[in-house]
Amino acid sequence: MTIAIYPGSFDPITNGHLDIALRASRIFDKLIIGIYDRPSEKTLLFSTRERVRLAREAVKDNPKIEVVSYKGLTGDYARKVHAHVMVRGLRMGGDFEKEFTLSMMNRRLYPELEQLCLMSAVEYQFLSSSLLKEAASLGGDIEGLVPSIVARALISKYGNKG
Ligand code: ADP
Repeated sequence: MTIAIYPGSFDPITNGHLDIALRASRIFDKLIIGIYDRPSEKTLLFSTRERVRLAREAVKDNPKIEVVSYKGLTGDYARKVHAHVMVRGLRMGGDFEKEFTLSMMNRRLYPELEQLCLMSAVEYQFLSSSLLKEAASLGGDIEGLVPSIVARALISKYGNKG
């Protein structure tokens, strides 16, 4: 059985993330969406429990995708769950360098873990959780960018403006 992990902050999960997860789930027997419990250098809007709940709800119809949260290094967690592939998404612009260096470090630390980057769908190239939160906090229309459960969660965080 081939198991892959798709790690990230998912604060919150967006349709861009879901597109990558869905496509990766067609390649592997099982895809684990791994939610960092405490991402470094990021201020979170949603708690770990909320991020997991939103992601689980968003993928509930796909039996090949599991959502978990984890602490510590992704490579250590991947070993624990017997995942040999780490999936990441690549948007145009800044992602490549970040993913490339991440892959180099992981190759050194975890030679058995292969990193697979899938190109973002064209309609989600510009979509990041941080930009989404900014738009939602200022009352922007986020329809079509997130599942409805996430849109509702953003509205309840930001009040009527969202
Ligand atoms: P991280 O803090 O690890 O960057 P994110 O939750 O921001 O976590 O993203 C997780 C992964 O999903 C990263 O590989 C990121 O490049 C990718 N990703 C984020 N948004 C999109 C998108 N709109 N389309 C494709 N991939 C995306």
